[in-house]
Amino acid sequence: MKEQLSKIRDEAKNELKKALDSRILEELRVKYLGKKGVVKEVLGKLGEMSEDTRKEIGRFANEIKDEIGKLFEEASLSIEKSLKEAKLRSGVADISIPQSVPPMGFSHPLTLVTEKMVNIFKSMGYAVEDGPELEEEYYNFDALNIPPYHPARDDHDSFYMGKGKLLRTHTSPVQIRTMKNKKPPLAIIVPGRCYRRDASDATHSPTFYQMEGLVVDKGLSFADLKGTLLLWAKMMFGEKTNIRLRPDFFPFTEPSAELAVTCPVCHGPGCGVCKHTGWVELMGCGMVNPVVLENCGIDSEVYSGFAFGMGIERVAMVVYGIKDIRFFYENDLRLLEQFVK
Ligand SMILES: [Zn+2]
Repeated sequence: MKEQLSKIRDEAKNELKKALDSRILEELRVKYLGKKGVVKEVLGKLGEMSEDTRKEIGRFANEIKDEIGKLFEEASLSIEKSLKEAKLRSGVADISIPQSVPPMGFSHPLTLVTEKMVNIFKSMGYAVEDGPELEEEYYNFDALNIPPYHPARDDHDSFYMGKGKLLRTHTSPVQIRTMKNKKPPLAIIVPGRCYRRDASDATHSPTFYQMEGLVVDKGLSFADLKGTLLLWAKMMFGEKTNIRLRPDFFPFTEPSAELAVTCPVCHGPGCGVCKHTGWVELMGCGMVNPVVLENCGIDSEVYSGFAFGMGIERVAMVVYGIKDIRFFYENDLRLLEQFVK
């Protein structure tokens, strides 16, 4: 009888090797391990034996049964595996299988704010312009109506590099470069890095980012400037945002103004961000000084223009409630990973 059982196991082994799908596997399971299967059939004959033989054969039969059970498990796993492989080969993947997500980087808050501002102006039809960070004094100062010894140069404590070059103190020289190379009508924005010899503190940094805007066309007035910046403020900070313009002075614009927006944090009553005034000063702006247009070969009798410029860090500090400009440059991941689009 032992021989008979071993033979059954070997037969099962051979047949399982040929079983290529789960339907055949199930048929074999019924044949070998089912209620009317061959193993049960042999065990049915145990009753006819003496007690000792019955015990011995019974134990052996159970071992064989376990062995056959394991063979079925292995066969089932290998069928599953080959089915998966075939699916992958045919390009049909199970997209419902949960995946582990690898750690992802984050965009820097200055990048997020810049992207948002650029997209707003692009939607109004502005083009993005770029210029060199190592700039000529002529473009950085002279052409912008800031001649040597003009007191405005004192506000731009500069990194002079010799031979008439310096690290640009604002993005405005790109206005000059664009007006000299392209014919109006022009509508550009210039996001970029600037440098001033400022000591580092909560609101100053020797390097910072600005975004400059310039529009030149026939018949532009201060109303166009005001309308543009009001629309920008609403798109940037929300529909309820309002703007306030107060007289200011810049050599390259005339008249000039300083623009404030209603506090995007408290919306009026006053808070730490707006120093309890309800207003946040964000940028300088004005009508392009006719002298600057003429310096670039544009007839100021025919064309007029408006320009504006703001610190990107200043906007980001308001948007994200960050109180110290130095946070932007310290690369502390605990701060940076808090900002998502
Ligand atoms: Zn406020």
